Amino acid sequence: MILLERYRDFLPITSRTPLITLHEGNTPLIRVENFEKYLGLKNVRIYLKYEGMNPTGSFKDRGMVMAIAKALEKGARYTICASTGNTAASAAAYSARTGLKSVVLIPEGKIALGKLAQAMIYGAKVVQINGNFDRCLELVRYLSENYDFELVNSINPYRIEGQKTAAFEIVDELGRAPDYHFIPVGNAGNITSYWKGYKEYREAGKMSNLPRMMGFQAEGAAPIVKGHVVEKPETVATAIRIGNPASWKKAEQARDESGGVIDTVSDDEILKAQRLIASLEGIFCEPASAASIAGIIKYRDVFKDGDVIVATLTGHGLKDPNVVIGNIEKPITVNPNVDDVLKAIGR
Ligand SMILES: *Cc1c(COP(=O)(O)O)cnc(C)c1O
Repeated sequence: MILLERYRDFLPITSRTPLITLHEGNTPLIRVENFEKYLGLKNVRIYLKYEGMNPTGSFKDRGMVMAIAKALEKGARYTICASTGNTAASAAAYSARTGLKSVVLIPEGKIALGKLAQAMIYGAKVVQINGNFDRCLELVRYLSENYDFELVNSINPYRIEGQKTAAFEIVDELGRAPDYHFIPVGNAGNITSYWKGYKEYREAGKMSNLPRMMGFQAEGAAPIVKGHVVEKPETVATAIRIGNPASWKKAEQARDESGGVIDTVSDDEILKAQRLIASLEGIFCEPASAASIAGIIKYRDVFKDGDVIVATLTGHGLKDPNVVIGNIEKPITVNPNVDDVLKAIGR
């Protein structure tokens, strides 16, 4: 069943909402036993919710399908968003699918190559802004308030609603909520969505427990942890390169109500975690997603026997190939004969 139908009772769907789909959601929840062993954890189960398997390669599709359905319901013709890349890719795809025109504002030179390619091929009007993401968001807010553009950033409440479905899927599969949920934090919409989703599902009697929400910002872009706006956010994890998160207060609420934390991880820890989970488990996520993994590594000592941990891998690694190619030793070139090849392999 498509996402909007499956979780219809928990979503703002009316008889007039078109049930559109690119077959988003229903992403794999992968147990990672090699990683558990690597951490030296015996009676702890770790699962990764691999959101890179969504139609445009990130969790943004869950919220976008809902936001675009509501935009269609009210007769919108244009969508607009500010983006570090994945929102743009998703808005462009769902707009194309449903005959809407999409406009995306991106910070110049600061979005991963794969994401830019996606926005372009889906036919969005892509405008690069000589400024950062936070400035792009201010601009699209103004434009949507004063012109007939439908804003599809996560300040659009329907985005938050759609993104709750990831928490539902996790509970449906595990038969309970995890003890800890690890997640990267950028604009802080997703941590807000998961917490809302877990709470609503418990209210509906689907499980009795709630997880601690464990959010991670990059050191150079950690406004919530530092307690003030970061004017010039910097991190290799471009999807969370945000200095003034739109859902700041709600993220703090999720942290405090759940007894969780919002903490930082360094770029070095992020890149090491990205490589570790790829080489240990065969799962390639983008740098921002690896903040979840780096967070688990940082908090490995807090887990107790029997704990169930879920981490969201927010986006696919192929979105940002440059970061890998720039950081790992390049393949060597040898002459085309068996001896040289064996020598290169080290056999
Ligand atoms: C958007 C995004 C994030 C950050 O999510 P927020 O809801 O802005 O906190 C993290 N990782 C990836 C891959 C993203 O696309």
